[in-house]
Amino acid sequence: MKVCKFGGSSMASAETIRRVAEIIRSDADRRYVVVSAPGKRFSADIKITDSLLTAYHESRKGGSLKELIAPIRERFEGIAHDLGVEDKVDLAALFKEIEAGIAASPIPDFAAAQGERLSAMLLAAFLGCAFIDAKEIIRFADNGQFNAEYTNDVARKRLAAEGSLVVIPGFYGSTSAGQIRTFSRGGSDVTGAIIARAVKADLYENWTDVNGFLTADPRIVDQPKPIPELSYRELRELSYMGANVLHPESIFPVRKANIPINIRNTFEPNNPGTMILPGVLQHDRLITGIAGKKGFVSILIEKSMMNNEIGFTRKLLSVLENLNMSFEHLPSGIDTMTLIIADTEIGGKLQELVGGIREAVSPDRLEIQSDLALIATVGHGMAYKPGTASRLFTALSRVGVNIKMIDQGSSELNIIVAVAGEDYEKAINAIYEEFIN
Ligand code: ADP
Ligand code: ASP
Ligand code: MG
Repeated sequence: MKVCKFGGSSMASAETIRRVAEIIRSDADRRYVVVSAPGKRFSADIKITDSLLTAYHESRKGGSLKELIAPIRERFEGIAHDLGVEDKVDLAALFKEIEAGIAASPIPDFAAAQGERLSAMLLAAFLGCAFIDAKEIIRFADNGQFNAEYTNDVARKRLAAEGSLVVIPGFYGSTSAGQIRTFSRGGSDVTGAIIARAVKADLYENWTDVNGFLTADPRIVDQPKPIPELSYRELRELSYMGANVLHPESIFPVRKANIPINIRNTFEPNNPGTMILPGVLQHDRLITGIAGKKGFVSILIEKSMMNNEIGFTRKLLSVLENLNMSFEHLPSGIDTMTLIIADTEIGGKLQELVGGIREAVSPDRLEIQSDLALIATVGHGMAYKPGTASRLFTALSRVGVNIKMIDQGSSELNIIVAVAGEDYEKAINAIYEEFIN
């Protein structure tokens, strides 16, 4: 039995939803379906989730909520009409309830979740099958943390009692008090993985708009080659480092149950896509894929005899802990240590952070560099193969890209380099040319 998740582009219009229904109907094993909110139909289009979040935030600044949600309602009414299900889903009543719910919410999560909820209702109506609201089976603690074991128990029992086909909205759940909470953006992938674990699926199919996991971001490299097979660990590295075809947290539920993930293309359903499997895969490939993200700051801290100062790193990291900030990397030399932190973690607190570091460890020198990008070159094939790093560095130097930091984990599964943000695309293309093309 299979769990299928369909992403935003698959749910974007009545036409694409018809394709989704065809895929589901073509295989009786496809019994549990998780869906995203309608995404973009064309590149300048706006995702429903973004419109809902804008409606929440603008209404807090005094905008008319009714006017802000009118285009969202029109888009759903258009889909319902084109699918011929307008008599089965009472959108007028639902939007009354949604407007009141958004107005009463202290947090944006309720608003953000409505796209998935309506999208699932429309698909269930079109398929003539059951709809189960995610708020009944996906549980969050009051602090917003996902409660994996409670959810697994409740979802398992509830879904086992269901008929042959069920549609479930992705992205959200609720607290024990009934407050709606969402995962981070792209989180419908996580819901799909949670459902796959709960029903002990044989396969988790993740249907999107590309032919599987590609060796690089197709928005940066022209027509990157697909990856036919990927290990869980390679997936974790690549998705965490920015290959956002799959949410980085979707690996955890399926890993617990050893369920393979198959990334597929709704718009090319005959393409086998990518299989993501447990264990280390035997391939002759040196590297599996490249991923990266922009928006990092480095803080170089230099102090003579740093190595001899007991507790130096603890004092430094306690500054971060007090500011509730996490760091990405911490490469060190004899008298230097460099913190690499995402802009999103720093928020507006750079001055506070620097002040805290000066006070805690009294450095001789402290140097800040902003607008950095991190690039990960990932693959089990790199382990025990000398020369990979030197080929990588040569490829970058050939195109004049200066490397600001290097970090190779002891697992030899990846090499991460930091480069200037403006060199990001050039660097990824150079690595791609060297190892994959
Ligand atoms: P969905 O709405 O189906 O969840 P997403 O937009 O979240 O789809 O993810 C699919 C997109 O991820 C692709 O259209 C592609 O632009 C982007 N992407 C980035 N890196 C990769 C990669 N390595 N392989 C495939 N797609 C990638
Ligand atoms: N609709 C949500 C988002 O845009 C969740 C998802 O699509 O996975 O982030
Ligand atoms: Mg996605």
